[in-house]
Amino acid sequence: MAKIVKIKDLIVDEFAVKNYVGRDAEGHAHPGREKDSAAFMVRIIADNGLEGIYFSSASYVKPNGNYNVPKDAADHSVGTRGYSVPDILRSVIKPMIVGEEALARERIFNKIAQRQRLNQAINEKVLAYVDCALWDLAGKIAGLPVYKLLGGSRTKIRAYASTMVGDHYEGGLDTPEAYARYAVECKRRGFTAYKLHTWAELPWTESVCRSTADWKRDAEACLAVRAAVGEDMDLMLDPFHYYDRYDALKLGRELEKARYTWLEEPMDEYNLSSYQWLCENLEIPICGPEVALGKLQTRAEWIVKKASDICRTGAFDVGGLSPTLKTAHLCEAFGIPLEIHSPGPCNIHLIAAMSIPGEYYEYGLIHPFLDWAVPPYLNSPCDRFENGYILVPQGEGMGWDINYDYIKDNLIRSE
Ligand code: MG
Repeated sequence: MAKIVKIKDLIVDEFAVKNYVGRDAEGHAHPGREKDSAAFMVRIIADNGLEGIYFSSASYVKPNGNYNVPKDAADHSVGTRGYSVPDILRSVIKPMIVGEEALARERIFNKIAQRQRLNQAINEKVLAYVDCALWDLAGKIAGLPVYKLLGGSRTKIRAYASTMVGDHYEGGLDTPEAYARYAVECKRRGFTAYKLHTWAELPWTESVCRSTADWKRDAEACLAVRAAVGEDMDLMLDPFHYYDRYDALKLGRELEKARYTWLEEPMDEYNLSSYQWLCENLEIPICGPEVALGKLQTRAEWIVKKASDICRTGAFDVGGLSPTLKTAHLCEAFGIPLEIHSPGPCNIHLIAAMSIPGEYYEYGLIHPFLDWAVPPYLNSPCDRFENGYILVPQGEGMGWDINYDYIKDNLIRSE
């Protein structure tokens, strides 16, 4: 009879890190001035001594020789991302999961998800931290990387360079030509695919309710990139998210001319009928939904209502690796590709285990001023890049290579 492993404790370690990302009024990441910030590590501790771990951010960027952020650049960052998440994990989640069986992920997921109805502080990210830490624990209990537990076989995944949202920095992503130059640089580094996030056009210094985003400028950037990199690079666009259906259609037609692989989230994702209309009127695949709430049930509705051609989600959009895996199976059943949103080890293990639906890993967000770097709290990255691919970590669980000395030396709160 196998021994039942139970959850004994949940601890969140918050620690100091330097941060080089600033946020515009809508929350998009841009190169920012260096500032003191914080990250956290969630530990779900089992009664056999093993710990399931997940970190608040697996992606990290550092300034390079091109760094040119003006001193007066506005930054709408409020503290650090997810400051409230540690408190919710400690005060709401811990009492719910202590004493539960550590491998009972489905039971734990549904127990927490049902609490979301009347407690909206438990968002999908909170759920995802718990689910991903439990998968890390499951891998450690089994002595296997998570993707092998999932039946996966891929040991490397094709990566696309995913840019930050357009800006106004000289030498940054300020013109169509700047996107083209950066695409050439990414190709030189070994990328075989590149995704533009073009301009959101929200002023950085005041609140506005109307954007001045321009689909023609987006199209110009996309065409400039295609002309610069040639035909042997896959290209995608993720533009301003609130175009109306007519501007989205005109933009999509320009992308068709430039042989783009997909168009992602050009309109509000709660406007399902606009997405159905757009899919009917364009040849280029529409990819979504990315941010729409409702977990895999929303993805199922989009599939049956033909609101996108490529499904999209990531572990932190739908509450963890478990619901993302179910979405992958759902897509497989309908014969629809699934492209995964955002980097991070939970998404790597998931993609490595998908038999059919998805192809790429989103490597980013990156920018001409910033290079991808190993976070100071890790000894090596979870997504080592080599010749156009990232390598799937082979350690137990998520395969974290943690620098515990850094966390100890920079600890703010452990509770
Ligand atoms: Mg997107």
